[in-house]
Amino acid sequence: MPSLLVRNGRIVTASESYDADLFVDAGRVALIGEGLSLPADTVLDASGCLVLPGGVDVHTHLDMPAGDITSADDFETGTRAAAFGGTTTIVDFATPEPGESLFAALGKWRRKAEGRAVVDYGFHMALREVGGTTLAEMAQLTRDEGVTSFKLYLAYPGVLQVDDAAFFAALLGARACGALTLVHAENGGVIDVLVKRALARGETAPRQHALTRPPGTEAEAVARAIALAALADAPLYVVHLSCAAALAHVIAARDRGQAVAAETCPQYLFLSRDEYDRPGFEGAGYVMSPPLREAADQEALWRGLASGDLQVVATDHCPFTLADKARGRDDFSKIPNGAPGIETRMLLLWDGGVRAGRIDAQRFVELTAAAPARAFGLWPRKGTIAVGSDADLVIWDPERETRLAAATLHMRVDYNPYEGRVVRGGPAAVVSRGEVIVERGEWKGAAGRGRFLKRAHRSPQPA
Ligand SMILES: [Zn+2]
Repeated sequence: MPSLLVRNGRIVTASESYDADLFVDAGRVALIGEGLSLPADTVLDASGCLVLPGGVDVHTHLDMPAGDITSADDFETGTRAAAFGGTTTIVDFATPEPGESLFAALGKWRRKAEGRAVVDYGFHMALREVGGTTLAEMAQLTRDEGVTSFKLYLAYPGVLQVDDAAFFAALLGARACGALTLVHAENGGVIDVLVKRALARGETAPRQHALTRPPGTEAEAVARAIALAALADAPLYVVHLSCAAALAHVIAARDRGQAVAAETCPQYLFLSRDEYDRPGFEGAGYVMSPPLREAADQEALWRGLASGDLQVVATDHCPFTLADKARGRDDFSKIPNGAPGIETRMLLLWDGGVRAGRIDAQRFVELTAAAPARAFGLWPRKGTIAVGSDADLVIWDPERETRLAAATLHMRVDYNPYEGRVVRGGPAAVVSRGEVIVERGEWKGAAGRGRFLKRAHRSPQPA
């Protein structure tokens, strides 16, 4: 395996920033020091740049079926776009069909990724039901397969939603095997009533998506999930938290000493409910769940990221083309939920977070790489720059300018929620396990080079 020397950069991890060179051998960081002059197959000059750990995005939906359509990026296009944006590890979701075993679902998702993914990847397992063999399968997946986190939905009745009994049983099961429970926290029953009432009034436009999923439906579900996790004495991770009211419950739980963590996503920091008032059917491109919120929510989320009340920024990357979105033209509830974001997460968070003075560069690394790696059993292999860690690196040029546009970004979807926005700060080069895969905006990586990551679990806590 070729060696690599990165010279003249400033290394930034979640805990330190310092000037040093870095030598990579066999895909791992072998040596960090000043003025290294070892012979190497490749030399990258990082003058004027920061050297960051590759980004870790723990919330993606690649090649995901949604009824009779599929999310627009597969594991090749999606992970390549991730790499262009500085992300070198993803954790996607495997979702079983109703009645399908978790092992069968994992096999199916691993086959989707194998030979296609160009960066390393792991899987969370979604649970539609918690039945006879579920707990045994959870234990085996956690212990033997490196699938150490399980996601349940409190929304989407009749499709993915579970009741309190199933959610509570899953929390107990996860605790017993040392896994982490993820929750999509929206009250699906209440939303269903609001959707039916809106449609009965003849209100069918995309803006109804936000009006029928008000912040209270998220806050209630977050509070309930936290209460059930406390009853189970199990750790909880809240995905895509979007509003101040929900964040308040997370803060209160953490203040009580409960093991609750939460992620938010760039769309909730940079976009607001106003997008749904775009002309015609354009608002459909912003239909995602939870929906976009208000400026006051954005401010609360930024405060949470700066203070530590929010721990992770992931993407919930789940793109659908405008043609697929159009199936909800006459009924907002039929618009497939989701938007692209896997490529723009770090660009947006650097520009709007670090450059805007809301967070510093170390906090940026914490939110985009270190914290997600720790939460999901990938640390210290991923998420930091240290001797022995995988050489997943981003040579980050703070002056590099990118105009966000569907035509020039690499996600396989025909619109971009941030179309036309110019951001400063981005990858001059991206390295995955010692291989330069992106350099000056050009793809250099080999197809299918990504590897499945078996993730570590926590200590099992027998009942
Ligand atoms: Zn999601």
